[in-house]
Order: sequence, then structure tokens, then C-alpha cells
Amino acid sequence: MKIQFQVSKPVLCGNERRYVIDALDSGWISSNGAYLPKFEKAIAETLRVDECLSTSNGTTALHLACLSLGLKPGDEVIVPSLTYVASANAIAYCGARPIFADCDPLTWNATSECIAKVWTPRTVGVLAVHLYGMPTDIDKIAELCRSRGAWLLEDCAESLGATIFGKPTGSFGDASTFSFYGNKTISTGEGGALYVQDPERRRHARMLRGQGMDLNHRYWHPILGYNYRMTNIAAAIGLGQIEMLDFHLAERRRIAACYFKQLRPLEAEGLLRLPTQVDGYSSSYWLFSAVLTGGGDELRARIMNQLATEYGIETRPFFVPMHRLPMYFSEESLPKTEFLATHGMNFPTYTGLSDADVDEICGAIGHVLRTVS
Ligand SMILES: *Cc1c(COP(=O)(O)O)cnc(C)c1O
Repeated sequence: MKIQFQVSKPVLCGNERRYVIDALDSGWISSNGAYLPKFEKAIAETLRVDECLSTSNGTTALHLACLSLGLKPGDEVIVPSLTYVASANAIAYCGARPIFADCDPLTWNATSECIAKVWTPRTVGVLAVHLYGMPTDIDKIAELCRSRGAWLLEDCAESLGATIFGKPTGSFGDASTFSFYGNKTISTGEGGALYVQDPERRRHARMLRGQGMDLNHRYWHPILGYNYRMTNIAAAIGLGQIEMLDFHLAERRRIAACYFKQLRPLEAEGLLRLPTQVDGYSSSYWLFSAVLTGGGDELRARIMNQLATEYGIETRPFFVPMHRLPMYFSEESLPKTEFLATHGMNFPTYTGLSDADVDEICGAIGHVLRTVS
């Protein structure tokens, strides 16, 4: 059966087209042009911070953030094992070593408690992730880092718009990064952004983004830099998208509420577990997700396959834990992470998915879960 419901898709229903045509007509299609500062300003306003930098993608934003925080070979950084590979890779790009934390089984995030458990004397920083849009206890992690003299970097690729007691994720750390890949809450095709709190470190990040060139002296490159810039065309799409951020977030929260309502009975039957909602924490519900209570990845694969072939519903498995990938492999066991990684699934979550669509998806999930063996 043809896929009717994808896990995610970009919805360009604002001024994106108009702005892109304007950017093309202006001739400014590369990494200068009026949409770049406008988009950067809009991101900063969303975070309620003074300034943000756009980047070519979320991974380059993470790399710049790590470099601007002074990460160097031999250092150790704590990062959740259950994340997208880019979080760990950014640490490795700097020659440093990622130390993997287990996660909280209820919110699926590496919390302050999980992080404190793996702290070593070589830990220089923490790279916290708000998985699938659910905020981690970033206020407590910030406190932990402050008390131990380490920096905090927030990977908010999945959590743009998520808040803790009204304060946006991405405004707690010494730096934070965002992704605007095609499946993220808002997209620029490929794109990313970063916030660096300290003005000196921010200057450094800006220089690194632009080939290490002195900001006041053309073709003087005192440091080894990169070309990690965003294009004006991408920023034009981004501005159109971010103008509609509240709408896209409201859509995701409506969809999540509908999933909660429809899937509660399956949770009561013990067939799956839904994300735990923490008081004061507002998820962006980048992808609505649930965790099977047993069976492991073979059963999950059968369920996913049945949903796709019989009902046209695409789902996604949770990420493979970092400590199970060849370049970061370790025998050590992180049991909660391993359980989630083999039992968790992401469901279709995108602007325009109607309540009736979610009802239909949940009906299919219920049928498959009750009959699969
Ligand atoms: C998507 C994502 C990234 C990387 O973003 P790209 O724009 O694809 O480079 C980094 N971290 C997490 C947690 C992500 O989900």
C-alpha cells in the first residue's frame, strides 16, 4: 500500500515562496543578503536572546559551538547515548571524547542525574539534548555544570519552541544549536543556527564560520576556519517558516493531544508507554513517540512493517544508541537507553495532519498491537 501518512514533512504555507523569489530577484543568492540578518534576528527573538548565527546545517552549528567553547583533543564531554549521531560527532570532530549517559525511562532524556553518574575529572562540558522535542531538566543540568566549572551546550535541533516554565530550550546553556533540516519543526532545506552566550566566544564562532577570516580585515585568516555559512535563499525560506512557528507548534501540540487521547487505552492495556509529561515542561512534540512494553526490535519491525504495508502509515524506530555504533562502540551497558532504542517508535507528526487522520492512525496502531505476535 502506498504511504498515506509520512512521519514528517515540511509545510511551506507562509511567505516562503514570496521571500525566495525576492531573494532570487535581488541577485543575493549566496551567503550575503537581507534575509540572513532577518532570519537570525527572528531566531534570537524566539529564544529571547540578543543574537544568533545562522549556519549551513545543524551539525556545523554543533561543531562551531564545540570549538567556540574551547573543546580540544583529550577533553571529555558528556552526551546522551540516545540521540542523533551528529551530537556525538561534533565532539569527535574536535578530537575530544564523548562520554555516553543513560537516560530517564519516562522522558527518554539524559537528565542531570544520568549526567552526574558518568562525570569524570576530565569532563569539560555537557552536550544536552531535548529528544524528540521533550525538554530535559536543563535548569538542573545548568546548575550541575556551573557548580563543577563545566560548560553546557544544548542541542535543540528537535526542540525549537519547547519551554520550561515559559523559558525556551536553547536559552539555558553557554551555547545552543538548532537544525532546519527538512523534517524538523521548521526547515530551510538544509540549515542550522547557534547561540553563543559569551561575546568573545561568539566572535570566535562567527570567525570560524567564515573561513577564520578576521571580521575587520579581509583575507586575513589568523585561525583555521570553515565555510559553514547559510545562503540567503535558505534564510528566505527560514524567515517564511519562523513567522509561522507558533502555528506549526500549535499544530504539533494539537496532534500530540489527539495521540494522547487515542492511545491512552492502549497504554492502560499495557501495550505501549506514552511520553511522561512533566509539570511546567512544554514539549514541541517534534515527533510524537511511544514505546512498546516488550518484544524488542524484531517485534517492532513487524509492527512498523504492518503499519506501512497494510495501512500506509510510516513510522520510525528510535535512534540506535551511540555506544552501539562502530566508532563509539563500548561493551558497557546503558540498559534504559538500550530498551528505548529497541522499543521506541515515532509516529506521523506534521502541520496539517488532522484529528481524523490521527484517529485513523491510532485505530491502525491499536489493531496491529492487539493482533501482532
Ligand atoms: C537533526 C539533528 C541534528 C543535525 O542537524 P542537521 O541539520 O541534519 O545537520 C543534530 N542533533 C539532533 C538531535 C538532531 O535531531
